[in-house]
Amino acid sequence: MANSKYAYVRDFELPDPLLPGTFMLFRLDGHSFHRFSDVHEFKKPNDIRALQLMDHAAKDVMNEYPDIVLAFGESDEFSFLLRKSTSLYNRRQSKIVSTLTSLFTSSYVFHWQEYFPGYPLQYPPSFDGRIVLYPTGKQIRDYFAWRQADTHINNLYNTTFWALVQDGGQSTTEAHATLRGTFSKDKNEILYSRFGINYNRIDARFRKGSVLFRTEIPSEEAVGVDDGRPSVITTSLRAAAAAISGEERTSSGRMANESTESTSDIIAKSAEKEPSSTQEHSTLPSETSTAIPGIAQGQDVVHLETALPVASTTDIVTPAPPEPPKPKPKPKDSVKKSKQKQKQIPTKIEIVHCDIIQDDFWNERPWILDENWAG
Ligand SMILES: [Mg+2]
Repeated sequence: MANSKYAYVRDFELPDPLLPGTFMLFRLDGHSFHRFSDVHEFKKPNDIRALQLMDHAAKDVMNEYPDIVLAFGESDEFSFLLRKSTSLYNRRQSKIVSTLTSLFTSSYVFHWQEYFPGYPLQYPPSFDGRIVLYPTGKQIRDYFAWRQADTHINNLYNTTFWALVQDGGQSTTEAHATLRGTFSKDKNEILYSRFGINYNRIDARFRKGSVLFRTEIPSEEAVGVDDGRPSVITTSLRAAAAAISGEERTSSGRMANESTESTSDIIAKSAEKEPSSTQEHSTLPSETSTAIPGIAQGQDVVHLETALPVASTTDIVTPAPPEPPKPKPKPKDSVKKSKQKQKQIPTKIEIVHCDIIQDDFWNERPWILDENWAG
């Protein structure tokens, strides 16, 4: 294999490393989900089943990849933040993008029936993925603010649009015409005066999207962690239990029920624009994509590659006499990373629907942007 006359083709495989020392922002987005939501009869303006399924898939991805510290989801998209210091798959872009997108998609399909009982999938859904690198924490905060502002703009538009259609007797064309040129305050007024809807009392999940963040497991909760060591195992078991029970942890009542007014005000001032006409399918807003990571840390790559015997001419011509199997020494790199992993603190994933545009969320969780965090 290695020395065959065909082996030169391998030289065409070019490395695609991502710049070290930068935050990786991986975003994935549903492919043609307008059609997908129509075929599967998603409720308008929001289908909570579809959103919960997205959250579930995102949580599965975060449980598999400890270097993802934060995620934000709305409609058919999810953004994942990987810590600045991550060495996941040696920061190979294609490997990360393809593996993360694949895991998210398979989880979405795997759990479909739990959220849509009686509605079998009509065809396989797919997601695209991409990675964008950001050098600073400010840019990361602005990125997530951008996505949450998008959530607000789309949801306010869609909520008003479908109220006009479903309760106001307007056609979709008429509803678009009614909303053309309106500002946030105008839509809020239409909702309240014509339909008795106080927008700020609508489920925070719809108004603010889903925020999944990694946090340390308090020591009293860390069952199975007997020496302060980490554990992927502990984290995974807890995640599995949560997944089975369908549990969604909320960090605190205050956060979950937090008012959106501040966010709305900010957005109203800075981002007043109409979504595209296709956005009446509220569950599927803007087109976006994401990159995806792979499964484990760089060390897993090492294990995998060393586990695969490379056939050489020598091996074929003069096979070695049978010897008792010897454990292969781990490459230095791998040993080093194992030690690093042992220092990791056990973590869990929490899901909230709160403001992430202002400072509070970030000030209360400084570890999210801290590259030295061992969680
Ligand atoms: Mg989308």
